[in-house]
Amino acid sequence: MPLRHMFIDMNSFFASVEQQDDPTLQNKPLAVIPTDAQTTACIAASYEAKAFGIKTGTPVWEARKLCPRIIFKVANHRRYVIMHNRIVAATRSVVPVESVMSIDEMACRLVGDERKPEVAADTARRIKTAIRGLAGDYMRCSIGIGPNVMLAKVAADMQKPDGLTVLADSELPQALHRLQLTDFPGVGPRMEKRLKLYGIFTVEQFCQAPKKTLSDVWGSKLCGERWYRLLHGEDVPDTPTRRQTISHSHILPPALRTDEGAYGVLMRLVHKAAARLRKIKYWAGAVSVGASFLGDEPGKSVWWEESVRVPRCQDTQSFVSAATKLWEFRVRNRTPFKVGTVLSDLIPARSATPSLFDEDRQAEDISAAMDEVNAEFGASVVYLGAMFGMRDAAPTRVAFTQIPDFDRRVN
Ligand SMILES: [Mg+2]
Repeated sequence: MPLRHMFIDMNSFFASVEQQDDPTLQNKPLAVIPTDAQTTACIAASYEAKAFGIKTGTPVWEARKLCPRIIFKVANHRRYVIMHNRIVAATRSVVPVESVMSIDEMACRLVGDERKPEVAADTARRIKTAIRGLAGDYMRCSIGIGPNVMLAKVAADMQKPDGLTVLADSELPQALHRLQLTDFPGVGPRMEKRLKLYGIFTVEQFCQAPKKTLSDVWGSKLCGERWYRLLHGEDVPDTPTRRQTISHSHILPPALRTDEGAYGVLMRLVHKAAARLRKIKYWAGAVSVGASFLGDEPGKSVWWEESVRVPRCQDTQSFVSAATKLWEFRVRNRTPFKVGTVLSDLIPARSATPSLFDEDRQAEDISAAMDEVNAEFGASVVYLGAMFGMRDAAPTRVAFTQIPDFDRRVN
Protein backbone atom coordinates (compact mmCIF):
# COMPACT_ATOMS: atom_id res chain seq x y z
CA MET A 1 0.00 0.00 0.00
CA PRO A 2 1.31 3.48 -0.81
CA LEU A 3 2.51 5.80 1.97
CA ARG A 4 -0.37 8.22 1.64
CA HIS A 5 -0.37 9.99 4.99
CA MET A 6 1.90 11.67 7.47
CA PHE A 7 0.87 12.22 11.08
CA ILE A 8 2.62 14.85 13.18
CA ASP A 9 2.30 14.70 16.93
CA MET A 10 4.04 17.30 19.10
CA ASN A 11 5.85 15.75 22.07
CA SER A 12 4.62 16.84 25.52
CA PHE A 13 3.20 19.88 23.80
CA PHE A 14 2.08 22.13 26.70
CA ALA A 15 5.13 21.30 28.81
CA SER A 16 7.43 21.88 25.84
CA VAL A 17 5.91 25.32 25.18
CA GLU A 18 6.58 26.24 28.83
CA GLN A 19 10.17 25.05 28.54
CA GLN A 20 10.60 26.83 25.22
CA ASP A 21 9.33 30.10 26.68
CA ASP A 22 11.30 29.95 29.92
CA PRO A 23 14.88 28.61 29.72
CA THR A 24 14.99 28.19 33.52
CA LEU A 25 12.44 25.37 33.10
CA GLN A 26 14.48 23.49 30.51
CA ASN A 27 15.78 20.04 31.43
CA LYS A 28 13.62 20.06 34.58
CA PRO A 29 10.68 17.92 35.64
CA LEU A 30 7.66 20.06 34.91
CA ALA A 31 3.93 19.46 34.86
CA VAL A 32 1.22 21.71 33.45
CA ILE A 33 -1.97 21.95 35.50
CA PRO A 34 -5.32 23.53 34.57
CA THR A 35 -5.67 25.57 37.79
CA ASP A 36 -3.51 26.19 40.80
CA ALA A 37 -5.17 23.69 43.13
CA GLN A 38 -4.01 20.63 45.05
CA THR A 39 -7.00 18.63 43.91
CA THR A 40 -6.29 18.98 40.21
CA ALA A 41 -4.41 16.64 37.87
CA CYS A 42 -1.57 17.17 35.39
CA ILE A 43 -2.63 17.87 31.81
CA ALA A 44 0.93 17.53 30.47
CA ALA A 45 4.32 16.44 31.77
CA SER A 46 7.81 17.22 30.45
CA TYR A 47 10.03 14.29 29.49
CA GLU A 48 12.01 14.88 32.69
CA ALA A 49 8.77 14.47 34.68
CA LYS A 50 7.70 11.47 32.63
CA ALA A 51 10.90 9.75 33.74
CA PHE A 52 9.37 9.75 37.25
CA GLY A 53 6.16 8.15 36.01
CA ILE A 54 4.21 11.40 35.88
CA LYS A 55 1.83 11.70 32.95
CA THR A 56 -1.39 13.34 31.80
CA GLY A 57 -3.99 12.55 34.45
CA THR A 58 -1.59 12.11 37.38
CA PRO A 59 -3.06 13.97 40.41
CA VAL A 60 -0.93 16.81 41.74
CA TRP A 61 -0.44 15.15 45.16
CA GLU A 62 0.78 11.98 43.48
CA ALA A 63 3.10 13.86 41.13
CA ARG A 64 4.66 15.55 44.15
CA LYS A 65 5.13 12.19 45.81
CA LEU A 66 6.72 10.70 42.68
CA CYS A 67 9.03 13.69 42.25
CA PRO A 68 9.30 16.14 45.15
CA ARG A 69 11.15 18.77 43.07
CA ILE A 70 8.52 18.84 40.33
CA ILE A 71 7.62 22.31 39.05
CA PHE A 72 3.95 23.04 38.38
CA LYS A 73 2.90 25.61 35.79
CA VAL A 74 -0.68 26.76 35.28
CA ALA A 75 -1.71 26.30 31.65
CA ASN A 76 -1.41 29.33 29.40
CA HIS A 77 -3.74 28.49 26.56
CA ARG A 78 -3.12 31.69 24.66
CA ARG A 79 0.56 30.79 24.35
CA TYR A 80 -0.28 27.26 23.24
CA VAL A 81 -2.52 28.56 20.45
CA ILE A 82 0.20 30.94 19.24
CA MET A 83 2.70 28.06 19.15
CA HIS A 84 0.15 25.82 17.48
CA ASN A 85 -0.28 28.36 14.68
CA ARG A 86 3.47 28.57 14.19
CA ILE A 87 3.76 24.80 14.00
CA VAL A 88 0.99 24.55 11.42
CA ALA A 89 2.60 27.36 9.39
CA ALA A 90 6.01 25.66 9.59
CA THR A 91 4.53 22.38 8.38
CA ARG A 92 2.65 24.14 5.60
CA SER A 93 5.91 25.61 4.37
CA VAL A 94 6.95 22.04 3.51
CA VAL A 95 3.71 20.21 2.61
CA PRO A 96 -0.02 21.12 2.69
CA VAL A 97 -1.74 20.27 5.98
CA GLU A 98 -4.85 18.25 5.29
CA SER A 99 -6.33 18.25 8.75
CA VAL A 100 -5.54 19.68 12.12
CA MET A 101 -6.75 17.02 14.54
CA SER A 102 -6.04 18.84 17.79
CA ILE A 103 -3.82 21.55 19.20
CA ASP A 104 -0.77 19.28 18.91
CA GLU A 105 -1.63 16.89 16.10
CA MET A 106 -2.09 17.23 12.37
CA ALA A 107 -2.15 15.06 9.29
CA CYS A 108 -0.81 15.69 5.80
CA ARG A 109 -1.53 13.80 2.63
CA LEU A 110 1.48 12.77 0.58
CA VAL A 111 1.21 12.59 -3.18
CA GLY A 112 3.40 11.57 -6.09
CA ASP A 113 7.09 11.18 -5.25
CA GLU A 114 6.42 12.18 -1.65
CA ARG A 115 5.15 8.62 -1.16
CA LYS A 116 8.55 7.08 -1.78
CA PRO A 117 9.83 6.01 1.67
CA GLU A 118 13.08 7.99 1.42
CA VAL A 119 11.32 11.13 0.11
CA ALA A 120 8.63 10.81 2.78
CA ALA A 121 11.26 10.53 5.50
CA ASP A 122 13.14 13.50 4.08
CA THR A 123 9.90 15.53 3.99
CA ALA A 124 9.35 14.65 7.67
CA ARG A 125 12.86 15.78 8.57
CA ARG A 126 12.30 19.06 6.74
CA ILE A 127 9.09 19.59 8.72
CA LYS A 128 10.97 19.02 11.99
CA THR A 129 13.58 21.57 10.95
CA ALA A 130 10.91 24.08 9.91
CA ILE A 131 9.09 23.67 13.24
CA ARG A 132 12.30 24.16 15.23
CA GLY A 133 13.06 27.22 13.12
CA LEU A 134 9.68 28.88 13.57
CA ALA A 135 8.59 27.68 17.02
CA GLY A 136 11.88 26.91 18.78
CA ASP A 137 14.33 24.10 19.55
CA TYR A 138 12.19 22.69 22.31
CA MET A 139 9.28 22.04 20.01
CA ARG A 140 9.97 18.47 19.05
CA CYS A 141 7.52 16.15 17.34
CA SER A 142 7.11 12.52 16.42
CA ILE A 143 6.15 11.87 12.84
CA GLY A 144 4.55 8.73 11.51
CA ILE A 145 4.09 7.85 7.86
CA GLY A 146 1.67 5.16 6.74
CA PRO A 147 -0.97 4.08 4.22
CA ASN A 148 -3.86 5.67 6.15
CA VAL A 149 -4.22 8.29 8.88
CA MET A 150 -4.89 5.70 11.59
CA LEU A 151 -1.71 3.74 10.84
CA ALA A 152 0.31 6.94 10.43
CA LYS A 153 -0.85 7.96 13.92
CA VAL A 154 0.10 4.56 15.28
CA ALA A 155 3.51 5.01 13.62
CA ALA A 156 3.94 8.45 15.19
CA ASP A 157 3.37 6.89 18.62
CA MET A 158 6.08 4.27 18.09
CA GLN A 159 9.04 6.57 18.79
CA LYS A 160 9.06 9.43 21.28
CA PRO A 161 10.39 12.02 21.56
CA ASP A 162 11.54 13.36 18.21
CA GLY A 163 10.62 10.13 16.42
CA LEU A 164 10.26 9.32 12.77
CA THR A 165 8.66 6.04 11.73
CA VAL A 166 7.85 5.01 8.18
CA LEU A 167 5.41 2.09 7.97
CA ALA A 168 6.41 0.88 4.54
CA ASP A 169 4.76 -2.31 3.28
CA SER A 170 7.75 -4.52 3.98
CA GLU A 171 7.84 -3.55 7.67
CA LEU A 172 4.13 -3.17 8.25
CA PRO A 173 3.21 -6.54 9.80
CA GLN A 174 6.33 -6.90 11.98
CA ALA A 175 6.11 -3.31 13.21
CA LEU A 176 2.43 -3.64 14.11
CA HIS A 177 2.67 -7.06 15.71
CA ARG A 178 5.01 -5.72 18.39
CA LEU A 179 2.25 -3.38 19.62
CA GLN A 180 -0.46 -3.77 22.25
CA LEU A 181 -4.11 -3.73 21.25
CA THR A 182 -4.57 -0.50 23.20
CA ASP A 183 -1.87 1.19 21.08
CA PHE A 184 -4.52 1.63 18.38
CA PRO A 185 -6.48 4.87 18.60
CA GLY A 186 -10.05 3.92 19.48
CA VAL A 187 -9.13 0.73 21.34
CA GLY A 188 -9.46 1.51 25.03
CA PRO A 189 -9.55 -0.93 27.93
CA ARG A 190 -13.23 -1.66 27.32
CA MET A 191 -12.73 -2.52 23.66
CA GLU A 192 -9.66 -4.56 24.54
CA LYS A 193 -11.84 -6.64 26.85
CA ARG A 194 -14.34 -7.20 24.06
CA LEU A 195 -11.60 -8.17 21.61
CA LYS A 196 -10.34 -10.77 24.09
CA LEU A 197 -13.87 -12.06 24.47
CA TYR A 198 -13.75 -12.87 20.75
CA GLY A 199 -10.36 -14.58 21.00
CA ILE A 200 -8.27 -11.61 19.91
CA PHE A 201 -5.38 -11.24 22.36
CA THR A 202 -2.58 -9.99 20.12
CA VAL A 203 -2.24 -7.39 17.37
CA GLU A 204 -1.35 -10.23 15.00
CA GLN A 205 -4.74 -11.82 15.70
CA PHE A 206 -6.37 -8.37 15.41
CA CYS A 207 -4.85 -7.84 11.94
CA GLN A 208 -5.88 -11.30 10.79
CA ALA A 209 -9.41 -11.21 12.16
CA PRO A 210 -12.14 -11.53 9.52
CA LYS A 211 -14.59 -8.68 8.90
CA LYS A 212 -17.35 -10.68 10.54
CA THR A 213 -15.48 -11.04 13.84
CA LEU A 214 -14.60 -7.35 13.96
CA SER A 215 -18.21 -6.46 13.20
CA ASP A 216 -19.29 -8.64 16.12
CA VAL A 217 -16.70 -7.07 18.43
CA TRP A 218 -17.84 -3.55 17.57
CA GLY A 219 -21.49 -4.56 17.39
CA SER A 220 -21.69 -2.80 14.04
CA LYS A 221 -21.02 -4.00 10.52
CA LEU A 222 -19.95 -0.50 9.52
CA CYS A 223 -17.38 -0.18 12.32
CA GLY A 224 -16.12 -3.72 11.90
CA GLU A 225 -15.54 -3.31 8.19
CA ARG A 226 -13.93 0.05 8.75
CA TRP A 227 -11.44 -1.45 11.19
CA TYR A 228 -10.77 -4.34 8.83
CA ARG A 229 -9.96 -1.95 6.00
CA LEU A 230 -7.84 0.31 8.19
CA LEU A 231 -5.78 -2.60 9.52
CA HIS A 232 -5.20 -3.74 5.94
CA GLY A 233 -3.81 -0.35 4.99
CA GLU A 234 -6.77 0.94 2.98
CA ASP A 235 -7.26 4.68 2.80
CA VAL A 236 -10.54 4.89 4.70
CA PRO A 237 -11.55 8.52 5.11
CA ASP A 238 -12.14 9.81 8.60
CA THR A 239 -15.67 10.74 9.46
CA PRO A 240 -14.81 14.37 8.84
CA THR A 241 -15.98 17.43 10.66
CA ARG A 242 -14.60 19.45 7.78
CA ARG A 243 -14.58 17.94 4.33
CA GLN A 244 -11.15 16.54 3.47
CA THR A 245 -11.56 14.66 0.22
CA ILE A 246 -14.05 13.88 -2.50
CA SER A 247 -13.78 10.35 -3.75
CA HIS A 248 -15.64 8.27 -6.26
CA SER A 249 -14.96 4.68 -7.19
CA HIS A 250 -16.80 2.17 -9.27
CA ILE A 251 -16.67 -1.58 -9.90
CA LEU A 252 -16.55 -2.06 -13.65
CA PRO A 253 -19.32 -4.08 -15.25
CA PRO A 254 -17.85 -7.08 -17.16
CA ALA A 255 -18.26 -5.38 -20.55
CA LEU A 256 -16.05 -2.48 -19.47
CA ARG A 257 -13.20 -4.51 -18.00
CA THR A 258 -10.85 -3.32 -20.70
CA ASP A 259 -8.21 -0.62 -20.81
CA GLU A 260 -10.52 1.78 -22.68
CA GLY A 261 -13.54 0.88 -20.57
CA ALA A 262 -11.64 1.56 -17.35
CA TYR A 263 -10.38 4.89 -18.67
CA GLY A 264 -13.86 5.91 -19.78
CA VAL A 265 -15.43 5.16 -16.41
CA LEU A 266 -12.53 6.87 -14.65
CA MET A 267 -13.13 10.02 -16.70
CA ARG A 268 -16.77 9.91 -15.78
CA LEU A 269 -15.85 9.65 -12.09
CA VAL A 270 -13.47 12.59 -12.44
CA HIS A 271 -16.32 14.66 -13.92
CA LYS A 272 -18.59 13.67 -11.07
CA ALA A 273 -15.97 14.49 -8.45
CA ALA A 274 -15.24 17.89 -10.02
CA ALA A 275 -18.95 18.75 -10.22
CA ARG A 276 -19.36 17.73 -6.60
CA LEU A 277 -16.38 19.86 -5.61
CA ARG A 278 -17.95 22.92 -7.21
CA LYS A 279 -21.34 22.15 -5.75
CA ILE A 280 -20.00 22.20 -2.22
CA LYS A 281 -17.85 25.22 -3.16
CA TYR A 282 -14.40 23.79 -2.50
CA TRP A 283 -11.09 23.85 -4.36
CA ALA A 284 -8.74 20.89 -4.61
CA GLY A 285 -4.96 20.83 -4.66
CA ALA A 286 -4.27 17.17 -5.45
CA VAL A 287 -5.69 14.42 -7.64
CA SER A 288 -5.30 10.67 -7.20
CA VAL A 289 -6.46 7.94 -9.51
CA GLY A 290 -6.43 4.25 -8.77
CA ALA A 291 -7.51 0.93 -10.18
CA SER A 292 -7.78 -2.69 -9.11
CA PHE A 293 -6.64 -5.34 -11.54
CA LEU A 294 -7.19 -9.08 -11.44
CA GLY A 295 -4.20 -10.85 -9.87
CA ASP A 296 -2.51 -14.09 -10.83
CA GLU A 297 -4.50 -16.17 -8.40
CA PRO A 298 -8.28 -16.25 -8.12
CA GLY A 299 -9.49 -13.85 -5.45
CA LYS A 300 -6.22 -11.88 -5.47
CA SER A 301 -6.00 -8.41 -6.91
CA VAL A 302 -3.38 -5.83 -7.73
CA TRP A 303 -4.05 -2.28 -6.57
CA TRP A 304 -2.45 0.58 -8.45
CA GLU A 305 -2.59 4.22 -7.45
CA GLU A 306 -0.87 7.45 -8.50
CA SER A 307 -1.34 11.01 -7.38
CA VAL A 308 -0.14 14.49 -8.15
CA ARG A 309 -0.43 17.99 -6.76
CA VAL A 310 -2.15 20.55 -8.98
CA PRO A 311 -2.42 24.32 -8.60
CA ARG A 312 -5.60 24.78 -6.52
CA CYS A 313 -8.53 24.60 -8.90
CA GLN A 314 -12.10 23.42 -9.28
CA ASP A 315 -12.53 23.10 -13.04
CA THR A 316 -13.15 19.73 -14.65
CA GLN A 317 -10.58 20.30 -17.36
CA SER A 318 -7.65 20.55 -14.92
CA PHE A 319 -8.66 17.33 -13.15
CA VAL A 320 -9.28 15.47 -16.41
CA SER A 321 -5.86 16.38 -17.70
CA ALA A 322 -4.12 15.48 -14.40
CA ALA A 323 -5.99 12.16 -14.19
CA THR A 324 -5.19 11.35 -17.81
CA LYS A 325 -1.49 11.95 -17.21
CA LEU A 326 -1.56 9.74 -14.12
CA TRP A 327 -3.42 7.02 -16.02
CA GLU A 328 -0.34 6.69 -18.25
CA PHE A 329 1.37 4.98 -15.30
CA ARG A 330 -1.31 2.35 -14.84
CA VAL A 331 -0.62 -1.37 -14.62
CA ARG A 332 -0.61 -2.83 -18.13
CA ASN A 333 -1.60 -6.23 -19.43
CA ARG A 334 -3.95 -6.99 -16.58
CA THR A 335 -7.72 -6.90 -16.43
CA PRO A 336 -9.07 -3.85 -14.58
CA PHE A 337 -12.18 -4.37 -12.47
CA LYS A 338 -12.41 -1.22 -10.36
CA VAL A 339 -11.41 2.41 -10.83
CA GLY A 340 -11.52 5.37 -8.53
CA THR A 341 -10.44 8.95 -8.08
CA VAL A 342 -9.84 11.17 -5.07
CA LEU A 343 -9.67 14.95 -5.01
CA SER A 344 -7.82 16.07 -1.90
CA ASP A 345 -6.11 18.99 -0.22
CA LEU A 346 -9.49 20.71 -0.23
CA ILE A 347 -10.11 24.25 0.90
CA PRO A 348 -13.36 26.22 0.93
CA ALA A 349 -13.72 28.43 -2.15
CA ARG A 350 -13.83 31.59 -0.09
CA SER A 351 -10.26 31.06 1.09
CA ALA A 352 -8.87 30.06 -2.32
CA THR A 353 -7.08 32.55 -4.48
CA PRO A 354 -8.50 32.43 -7.99
CA SER A 355 -5.94 31.92 -10.71
CA LEU A 356 -4.35 35.00 -12.20
CA PHE A 357 -4.03 33.32 -15.55
CA ASP A 358 -6.61 33.93 -18.24
CA GLU A 359 -6.55 30.37 -19.49
CA ASP A 360 -7.36 28.95 -16.06
CA ARG A 361 -10.15 31.43 -15.58
CA GLN A 362 -11.72 30.34 -18.86
CA ALA A 363 -11.64 26.72 -17.69
CA GLU A 364 -13.45 27.78 -14.53
CA ASP A 365 -16.10 29.60 -16.54
CA ILE A 366 -16.68 26.52 -18.69
CA SER A 367 -17.09 24.30 -15.65
CA ALA A 368 -19.53 26.74 -14.12
CA ALA A 369 -21.45 26.75 -17.39
CA MET A 370 -21.53 22.95 -17.38
CA ASP A 371 -22.97 22.95 -13.90
CA GLU A 372 -25.60 25.48 -14.85
CA VAL A 373 -26.73 23.46 -17.84
CA ASN A 374 -26.82 20.43 -15.55
CA ALA A 375 -28.95 22.13 -13.04
CA GLU A 376 -31.32 23.25 -15.75
CA PHE A 377 -31.71 20.00 -17.66
CA GLY A 378 -30.90 17.58 -14.89
CA ALA A 379 -29.58 14.87 -17.19
CA SER A 380 -26.43 14.04 -19.11
CA VAL A 381 -27.13 15.30 -22.60
CA VAL A 382 -23.74 15.25 -24.24
CA TYR A 383 -20.54 13.79 -22.95
CA LEU A 384 -16.85 13.43 -23.68
CA GLY A 385 -15.62 11.07 -26.36
CA ALA A 386 -13.79 8.95 -23.79
CA MET A 387 -17.04 8.33 -22.02
CA PHE A 388 -18.91 7.10 -25.05
CA GLY A 389 -20.92 4.12 -24.00
CA MET A 390 -20.15 4.73 -20.34
CA ARG A 391 -23.01 7.03 -19.64
CA ASP A 392 -24.83 4.50 -17.57
CA ALA A 393 -21.77 2.74 -16.29
CA ALA A 394 -21.37 4.69 -13.07
CA PRO A 395 -24.40 5.73 -11.08
CA THR A 396 -24.75 9.47 -11.06
CA ARG A 397 -26.21 11.69 -8.50
CA VAL A 398 -24.79 14.82 -9.99
CA ALA A 399 -25.59 14.75 -13.66
CA PHE A 400 -23.16 16.40 -16.00
CA THR A 401 -22.98 17.54 -19.52
CA GLN A 402 -20.73 19.59 -21.70
CA ILE A 403 -21.01 22.67 -23.76
CA PRO A 404 -19.91 22.29 -27.39
CA ASP A 405 -16.70 24.21 -26.83
CA PHE A 406 -15.54 21.85 -24.13
CA ASP A 407 -14.69 18.95 -26.38
CA ARG A 408 -12.25 20.93 -28.45
CA ARG A 409 -10.57 22.28 -25.39
CA VAL A 410 -9.88 18.90 -23.88
CA ASN A 411 -8.70 17.25 -27.06
MG1 LIG B 1 1.25 14.97 21.53
